[in-house]
Amino acid sequence: MKRTKIKQLLESGDAGSKVTVKGWVRTKRGSKNVAFLAINDGSTINNIQVVVDVNNNENEALLAKIHTGASISIDGLLTESQGSGQRVELMAENLIILGEANPDEYPLQPKKHSLEFLREIAHLRFRTNTFSAITRLRHSMIFAVHKFFNDKGFLNIHTPIITGSDCEGAGEMFRVSVFDPKNPPLLEDGNVNWKEDFFGKETNLTVSGQLEGELAALALSEIYTFGPTFRAENSNTSRHLAEFWMIEPEMAFYDINDNMDLAEEMLKYLVKYALENCMEDLQFLSKRQQEEESQKPQDQRSMELIEKLKFVLDNDFARISYTEAIDILMKSKPNQKKQFQYPVEKWGTDLQSEHERFLVEKHFKKPVILTDYPKEIKAFYMKQNEDGKTVRAMDVLFPGIGEIIGGSQREENYEKLLNRIREMHIPEKDMWWYLETRKFGTVEHSGYGLGFERLMLFVSGMGNIRDVIPFPRTPKNAEF
Ligand code: ATP
Ligand code: MN
Repeated sequence: MKRTKIKQLLESGDAGSKVTVKGWVRTKRGSKNVAFLAINDGSTINNIQVVVDVNNNENEALLAKIHTGASISIDGLLTESQGSGQRVELMAENLIILGEANPDEYPLQPKKHSLEFLREIAHLRFRTNTFSAITRLRHSMIFAVHKFFNDKGFLNIHTPIITGSDCEGAGEMFRVSVFDPKNPPLLEDGNVNWKEDFFGKETNLTVSGQLEGELAALALSEIYTFGPTFRAENSNTSRHLAEFWMIEPEMAFYDINDNMDLAEEMLKYLVKYALENCMEDLQFLSKRQQEEESQKPQDQRSMELIEKLKFVLDNDFARISYTEAIDILMKSKPNQKKQFQYPVEKWGTDLQSEHERFLVEKHFKKPVILTDYPKEIKAFYMKQNEDGKTVRAMDVLFPGIGEIIGGSQREENYEKLLNRIREMHIPEKDMWWYLETRKFGTVEHSGYGLGFERLMLFVSGMGNIRDVIPFPRTPKNAEF
């Protein structure tokens, strides 16, 4: 018989019909006459309860071999449930063990495991409620990103993963080379001769698809990329990965206000999509978060997950300049009481995540978009303001996260861009193609980058970025 997914059975299976279910055993309970197996196949957070008659020698022998983690196939009769908490349950008629799981060796038991422990068994953590919920949510968010942009007529562009320009990530990039590290070809001065390497030059993994994205936008108007990015920054935080996924729209004819409008609309769309399509998983994740937070003092607990998501939908994001933010921060209580790890002392300093979170969580109590940062702390391609001091940058800051989006209006003036490239000692010869788009038919344009895992942190309520990507890459960790 053809297998039916558990999600479909629980939602719309007809009592009285014969069905086949395949999945993994979550729990086995027994009474004198019947055994109850909770089976999950990943299609939903919910298990189907399978009822097995124990007064049957064959079943009894099989049940002795069935433990948490085993994979089984059941043909049976779908019946209205007497009390499993679900609408229907399955009366087993034919039970087949597909793969046993020895309880003395199988690391996942029907009890609460710590997230740290689950990271060590990332090959099996998909089988937990938490990771199956996150995986389904992640899928829905990926789909919603593409739907959002597709519905608006944006084109998805694949930008290169191997790049020959290191203008953005100086010192933070992963080298791509085919050289034998013990014996690379050398120049007379002792330096490595990269001309002999695979691409005839030094190459790295990309830190962003933006520069190439801009090239496409300056012909196709509205494009976006959604690809992997790599950063060799040695920051072992709960919000940084060495390999993460980034969504980067680039739009011709958009100024910074259009850019902010799009970012806010997109974030709200994604949150709304999660609320409309992933409610069961969100409810599970909310409960998980509340249990975890019950140990924390009241004033350190975060807002309940679903309430928090609705709150983002219902409120306009605050929009203020960097200069206003510095003013607020300098006058703030934690700054005056020296409670910030990095005190805010003057205009021009870069904001740390503790400052971003103060603005969002304590001062405005809603998402904040900060604009017009000092040019010294931002990238060369951002449009220079007339004050000569600031650039048209915009960072979107979220509660519990800090920066979720970084973007800007791009400098479209050839001379100004070239000057900035020289001032910042960016290798000009690598930038010729980027510069040419400002020479030929330049237009006002803007874009931003949304870190997909930061979005996932927000939507799932998880606290560590290692737990919202299947196989995290972080310093000293590339297992699985
Ligand atoms: P941060 O200051 O938090 O390190 P950034 O200024 O380096 O961020 P950008 O270069 O502007 O970030 O990248 C755009 C977006 O990519 C960020 O807003 C964030 O959502 C995400 N991002 C940046 N670095 C990482 C990382 N190491 N791991 C996961 N996401 C990241
Ligand atoms: Mn960074």
